[in-house]
Amino acid sequence: MIIVMNSSATKEEIQSVENILVNLGFKTHPIYGEIKTVIGAIGDKRLLDTEMIKNLPGVENLVPIMKPYKLASKELQQNKTIIEIGDLKIGGNELIVMAGPCAVEDEQVFYATAHKVKAAGAKILRGGAFKPRTSPYAFQGLEEQGLKMLDIARNETGLKIVTEVVDTRDVETVAKYSDILQIGARNMQNFRLLKEAGASNKPVLIKRGLSATIEEWLMAAEYVISTGNPNIILCERGIRTFETATRNTLDISAIPVVKELSHLPIIADPSHATGSWKYVNPLAKAAIAAGADGLIIEVHNDPAKAMCDGPQSLKPDKFKELMQELRTVALAVNRNI
Ligand code: PEP
Ligand code: MN
Repeated sequence: MIIVMNSSATKEEIQSVENILVNLGFKTHPIYGEIKTVIGAIGDKRLLDTEMIKNLPGVENLVPIMKPYKLASKELQQNKTIIEIGDLKIGGNELIVMAGPCAVEDEQVFYATAHKVKAAGAKILRGGAFKPRTSPYAFQGLEEQGLKMLDIARNETGLKIVTEVVDTRDVETVAKYSDILQIGARNMQNFRLLKEAGASNKPVLIKRGLSATIEEWLMAAEYVISTGNPNIILCERGIRTFETATRNTLDISAIPVVKELSHLPIIADPSHATGSWKYVNPLAKAAIAAGADGLIIEVHNDPAKAMCDGPQSLKPDKFKELMQELRTVALAVNRNI
């Protein structure tokens, strides 16, 4: 339920409405607009005496939130969420590119890649230390040793770090070494993990599940926001379709759909969507043209030697080329990069 306060409502009236809602067992989420304040009230509607709330001083109107995701919905919050990490803003006018290898592996290759993506204009360094692999025999990541390498690269380059957390038991450790916690596609509906990641208070990047609908994906975001952490970045990374020519199918339409339904920033991952470095450039451009707030791209100094996802990794020179070409696309959609 959204409680719309009238434009002359005082701070005390707003606080008093919130207190009443909290006492009724609701979670409140006030949004202070320039003219009006609205209070999102999340909880069991049956406990709400709507007539009583309507008659409270300062209350203008009550509007139900129709969507099952409440806090993630545009119904509650029209203004775009902008996530601030230091001086970096995600979801603002500037497009944010995250880049780096699939996994943190060889130290020297990793640092060299980090410097190159930074020079090309990436703002955030990616690299998995905990890898959710289809085969239990495949490389599972360097774990804490990998996190330490991410931390060194952060100090050396000034780039922010995004890295995946696959288990609730590791949330605290991963949060210690990173700026954004990544929830992988395979864990999009791992609800305990979503709640733990939310509670870390780090921004959380939620990849779309392999076969998740947009509504299920936004419900995953709702899990995180309901912990009190509003800093969520959605990432379209391709979904399962009948098509086998590419690893997955990038659902470009998800970008404008999510923009219509939610205030949360959305980025695209053309690397996992296609599985082939050759298609990364055109799909990166397409995602930006469709309104994405940024990209996450796999870049490896020596893809042939990569232990994970080499075939979809761009070499640094190709990444640099892409970053230059993206400037024109960004301009066409009134964004900068
Ligand atoms: C990744 O980013 O390395 C990854 C495993 O992605 P996804 O969860 O989208 O498959
Ligand atoms: Mn990968």
